Amino acid sequence: AAPLVVAVSTAISAKKGLLIRNRTNFENARKINAVVFDKTGTLTEGQFGITDIKVMKGFEEDRLITYAASVESQSEHPIAKGIVKEAAKRKLPLKKISDFQSITGKGLQATVEGSAIMVVSPGYVKENDISYDTSNFDDWSREGKTVVFVLIDKEIAGMIALADIVRETAKNAVSDLKKLGIESIMLTGDNHQVAEYVGKQIGIDKVYAEVLPHQKSEKITEIMNTGRKVAMTGDGVNDAPALAKADLGIAIGTGTDVAIETADVILVKSNPQDVVNIIQLSKVTYRKMV
Ligand code: ADP
Ligand code: MG
Repeated sequence: AAPLVVAVSTAISAKKGLLIRNRTNFENARKINAVVFDKTGTLTEGQFGITDIKVMKGFEEDRLITYAASVESQSEHPIAKGIVKEAAKRKLPLKKISDFQSITGKGLQATVEGSAIMVVSPGYVKENDISYDTSNFDDWSREGKTVVFVLIDKEIAGMIALADIVRETAKNAVSDLKKLGIESIMLTGDNHQVAEYVGKQIGIDKVYAEVLPHQKSEKITEIMNTGRKVAMTGDGVNDAPALAKADLGIAIGTGTDVAIETADVILVKSNPQDVVNIIQLSKVTYRKMV
């Protein structure tokens, strides 16, 4: 009778918008006791908009946005989309770029009109001992905004703050998981303050921030090594190795192709609360099996 139950449950799940790609791992979903979530695009909508801009002395705002957007036009990252959108809003035509290079988990660089343009994370700036007035950065970070630095010929030309929207459904997911005795953990490449801010809003149990892409899967292994059964939920290219590593990999439906192709289950409605539904459906489906 078991295969029939499984078939029925697969049909039910499809109707609910849960696409099961790996039956074996779905079966094990009932044993999950820790759920790891990526932040941007998973716990949040992943729709960044620019909220604040600080232009350093000797530079000009529209030029800063033009250069940053020209470089970011090569990226699929939510930050990139936010900056490109701003240039379009200001009707700033993008420049031709060359020597484009992505700095994994830290930003991008390219040559624009003979200048070396970089759009990078606070972590990159810190690592390279580039000093700046931290007052704006601290204020914006405390407000939960993601900040990127624009460097022109290795000099900080400006800072751009971007804000995202927390998914209401993420709060419900975390509180439902708690009721089931399942721990919720955030894993993000973003800055500590931003991560803590979002984590607090959602009521998540634990936050790991400033995690580089290759460290995401290492973190999953680390959590699994504490004896826990771990689900990883993510949307980005950066999340794919972690999705593959976890006992159960869950991709957000609007996520990148790589994440979707790597995951065991796809949340067609991009609703984090469906993570709870998967675990419960697995419990119901395999209840009578050993
Ligand atoms: P997340 O885990 O939130 O998806 P990522 O690992 O993709 O974060 O990115 C980590 C950080 O690297 C970002 O917060 C940002 O500072 C920087 N970064 C990544 N991609 C870009 C980009 N296209 N432009 C500027 N900064 C970027
Ligand atoms: Mg993401």
